[in-house]
Amino acid sequence: MADLAEIQLLENRWDDAVAARLDEPGLLLYRSNLLGADKRITNYGGGNTSAKVAMKDPLSGEMVQVLWVKGSGGDVGTMKLDGFSTLYQDKLERLKGIYRGPDYEDEMVGYLPHCTFNLNPRAASIDTPLHAYLPYAHVDHMHPDAVIAIAATENSKALTREIFGEEIGWLPWRRPGFQLGLDLSAFAKANPKAKGVVLESHGLFTWGDTAKEAYETTLRIINTAIRFFDRKTRGATVFGGAVASALDGATRKAIAARLMPEIRGRIGGGEKKVGHFDDQPAVLEFVNSAELRPLAALGTSCPDHFLRTKIRPLVLDFDPASGDVDAVVAGLDRAVAAYRDDYAGYYERCKHPDSPAIRDPNAVIYLVPGVGMLSFARDKATARIAAEFYVNAINVMRGASTVGTYVGLPEQEAFDIEYWLLEEAKLQRMPKPKSLAGRVALVTGAAGGIGRAIAGKLLSEGACVVLTDIDAGALGETEAGFAKAFGADQVRSVALDVTDETAVADGFIRAAAEFGGVDILVSNAGISSSAPIEETGLDMWNRNMDILAKGYFLVAREAFRLFRRQKLGGSVVFIASKNGLAASPNAAAYCTAKAAEIHLARCLALEGADVGIRVNVVNPDAVLRGSKIWTGEWREQRAAAYKLSPDELEEHYRKRSMLKLSVFPEDIAEAVYFLASDLAAKSTGNIINVDAGNAQSFTR
Ligand code: NAD
Repeated sequence: MADLAEIQLLENRWDDAVAARLDEPGLLLYRSNLLGADKRITNYGGGNTSAKVAMKDPLSGEMVQVLWVKGSGGDVGTMKLDGFSTLYQDKLERLKGIYRGPDYEDEMVGYLPHCTFNLNPRAASIDTPLHAYLPYAHVDHMHPDAVIAIAATENSKALTREIFGEEIGWLPWRRPGFQLGLDLSAFAKANPKAKGVVLESHGLFTWGDTAKEAYETTLRIINTAIRFFDRKTRGATVFGGAVASALDGATRKAIAARLMPEIRGRIGGGEKKVGHFDDQPAVLEFVNSAELRPLAALGTSCPDHFLRTKIRPLVLDFDPASGDVDAVVAGLDRAVAAYRDDYAGYYERCKHPDSPAIRDPNAVIYLVPGVGMLSFARDKATARIAAEFYVNAINVMRGASTVGTYVGLPEQEAFDIEYWLLEEAKLQRMPKPKSLAGRVALVTGAAGGIGRAIAGKLLSEGACVVLTDIDAGALGETEAGFAKAFGADQVRSVALDVTDETAVADGFIRAAAEFGGVDILVSNAGISSSAPIEETGLDMWNRNMDILAKGYFLVAREAFRLFRRQKLGGSVVFIASKNGLAASPNAAAYCTAKAAEIHLARCLALEGADVGIRVNVVNPDAVLRGSKIWTGEWREQRAAAYKLSPDELEEHYRKRSMLKLSVFPEDIAEAVYFLASDLAAKSTGNIINVDAGNAQSFTR
């Protein structure tokens, strides 16, 4: 008998004290959030919950039955009360009278808005009938890996019986919709003792008379399945055993960083994509196994899985024993093209006359023996979630293939879900991506005043940003702030000194492993110094040359190397200075280094143009607010140079400007955004002065 103490069973987290304070909709939300908080219960965005609640009709004042059910989109784990749609139960019942049969079930979706209770704007989901017609007040529909593993086994009906006995029924695969709602209802009425149903190739339905009962039944049933698989898989050979060994963590990451820009370049010609790398033990066990290829080829089963991951992953030919990554790169064109052809074949075989046009034919998931899983999508969260879904699929295949024969969904069924007109309508409703969605930017000096404003602007336009700075403390704070504002997916940080060749190269490797590549480099890290030439020590001179000239050279060179491998062009923006164009008293080292940056940018614009790499410069002047270089000696020295007190300086610069305006970090960020984005797709070798007007620095 297996040692049950080691099994990771689901814990009952229901708190009666919390529940006592909640009304019925509140209890539904409480239960939903508890269920969705554990990804073993349901995957992100997967499943739905409902409660039938007596409420006062706003028109008649009478008490009516209202179905509260998770609306279209959203995630049970993180949803709020406004994520539920509310519908009159009696109107939903009346829909049965106009139902014309399975061939017409899609038209029933159009009737759901007519059943809306209390003008609730949340759209009802296509799963609504699955809850409406079950004769129970509380219904949970979850996608637990352990139950999908049963549902995706060839003999799933017998297995369901073996594991759950009479308590849980079984229904054959059917796409969610009106007919499945009627089938569920018929089953529940015919089997009044049943507490739920396993839906073939899909998931679990459970119910109860109270919210607590439904919650506890859901947990108990999933735990029964977890226990079953634990008994069957513990100590067993899974996936036919290992035929490859995992490389060490650092090597896995380095290989991922090498491969991801190559893949990204081949699949990101239209809509750019962001990558995600996952090498958790469950992934490594699968990619190193004997059954990797045959199981991967069968495709995922639960509709939720393949809508996110595409039905099949692309398995890359890599032999971790030889470690020949170049061979993988050399074979990538062929592998990517073969996948696309295969996908186009599937589309052609399965399409209907009214099917939407073929979508992006590239793989979402890439499996690499010895290394792990790479995934790509239009933004980081989607790429990460796709990877999570494939881990769900791996867990399902692990269980199913150990206790029986794993079966994917039949190709036509998968197609009918993927290209379902209702699914297409959902995609069409999605907001337009932001202007920098799918782009990755690396910003140096990102913990400083101007760098932080630039990073914030790029993030707000949808880019993923790798923040880099020599000041690790300030960098950590900056990252935490942005993660809060924009979500942790979109931002990463790497502490690095731009004068350190190895550290710079590592920074780009980290960026590639985190996001799949880089599209935008903003070279901004800087210092300032002020001294008459006779007092300019070699230290000061070298420091300026090191951080400004050499630092800009090193990061730009590394970006060029990556851009060339990635073959998606690229945009480099240097934050130089007005002082790089206009001479300034007592700052020869700084001014000369800034002039070097500007000329370096011109040279690089020349070198990069034929591969679509643009290089431009923004010249700020007198950005005092938020800037650290204006807090120390420089401020005093500048004030002294103009015979002013330090606090008169800002006003001095404002008055000195032609436009009589102060320049802020956000003003610099706007110019960087313009140059980095497609707005400036036809500009390279240019300079934008953001200095409120200074005739001395007019370019000519
Ligand atoms: P800041 O001091 O607030 O930010 C600069 C950042 O660069 C700091 O976070 C610092 O830690 C980082 N840094 C310094 N040396 C580094 C190194 N070796 N490696 C990595 N990071 C390093 O200053 P800021 O005003 O935000 O300046 C940003 C850029 O703008 C600089 O290049 C500066 O020369 C230029 N600039 C600023 C002004 C202005 O008035 N603030 C005017 C013209 C040009």
